[in-house]
Amino acid sequence: MRLLAATRSPGKQREIRRVLEPLGLSIAFPDDLGVFESPAELLLENAATFEGNARRKAEYFVRLTGMPAFADDSGLEVYALGGLPGIRSKRWAGAVGSDQDVDAANNAELLRRLAGAREMKRRARYRCVLVLLRSESAVPEVAEGICHGRILEAPTGSEGFGYDPLFFSDDLSRAFGQATAEEKDAVSHRGRALRALAERLGAV
Ligand code: IMP
Repeated sequence: MRLLAATRSPGKQREIRRVLEPLGLSIAFPDDLGVFESPAELLLENAATFEGNARRKAEYFVRLTGMPAFADDSGLEVYALGGLPGIRSKRWAGAVGSDQDVDAANNAELLRRLAGAREMKRRARYRCVLVLLRSESAVPEVAEGICHGRILEAPTGSEGFGYDPLFFSDDLSRAFGQATAEEKDAVSHRGRALRALAERLGAV
């Protein structure tokens, strides 16, 4: 089965391919189909929840391509910050520029907000919600993955993307920034959500 994965994030695209292709699913991304970013697309992520955002993206791409599509929305939730950055994870610090510049600004903001906080106050989780639409009129199917951990006091390691150098995974007992791709996929929020999606599609 060929599925459109409605994301343009290079970090997410790598993870999606790594998890779904070995399970026999053939994945296309918008650019592969000649669907380039439009101003309308930039306005899609304005729902109040991960699920709402993922659903809006899936609907948009199914309508545009006629292909079965899934979209993901994900982010980091820090308990002591009331779940922030949450749905604002991507552009939390308001920086513009390269992915690296945006990630660096977000990580600096996270360290600033948690400055001096003890370990218990640094508890956090990553969440990923996937919405699959098999056709324009299909009922949306939802898969979710969560992974627990805490925010470190300084960036550690250079693997992964986004907040990974600051996220200490309970499952791995080290930062995602220090984990190999395979180690992260085995326990990450996106790995878990993608395997749940594959199960729904009968690929597992
Ligand atoms: P989205 O593209 O709106 O889903 O934005 C998700 C944002 O959450 C990313 O840009 C990252 O800042 C953060 N995020 C989500 N998943 C991960 C992850 O696996 N590692 C690091 N950061 C992540």
